Amino acid sequence: MTDTIFGRIARREVSVPIVAESERCLAIRDIAPQAPVHILVIPKDSYASLNDVDDPAVLGDLLSLARDVARQQGLADDGYRIVINTNRDGGQSVFHLHAHVLGGRPLGWPPG
Ligand code: AMP
Repeated sequence: MTDTIFGRIARREVSVPIVAESERCLAIRDIAPQAPVHILVIPKDSYASLNDVDDPAVLGDLLSLARDVARQQGLADDGYRIVINTNRDGGQSVFHLHAHVLGGRPLGWPPG
C-alpha cells in the first residue's frame, strides 16, 4: 500500500474532475500536460508500480480505459501514445501505478 496524491484522488479524499471511470480505474487530467491531450489512468487500488500488480484484470481494465479515453478525446484515428513509466530509469515520479494517455500532436520517437 502506497500513499500518494493519486491514492488520495482514487479514494476520493481529494476532489478533482474525473474524465472517465471503469470498475477498477479512474481517469484524470495531468496537472502539467505534455501534449494537447494528457490524461492519467489510475487504478482505484494502490500499486506502487507496474511491477507490483499481480492481478491481470487490473492491467486489462487500465489499458481498456486508456483506450476508451483516447477514443473519447477524439485521438483514435490520428493516433496517440500510452505510457507507463516504471521506477527510476523509467522516469516514474509518482509511485501509484498510472498510465499516461498522450495525443493531439505528433509525438517524437525515441523518447529521451
Ligand atoms: P510519472 O513521472 O510517470 O510518475 O508521472 C507523474 C505525472 O503525474 C506527471 O505527468 C505529473 O505532471 C502528474 N501529476 C503530479 N501530481 C498531479 C496531480 N495532483 N494531479 C494530476 N497530475 C499530477
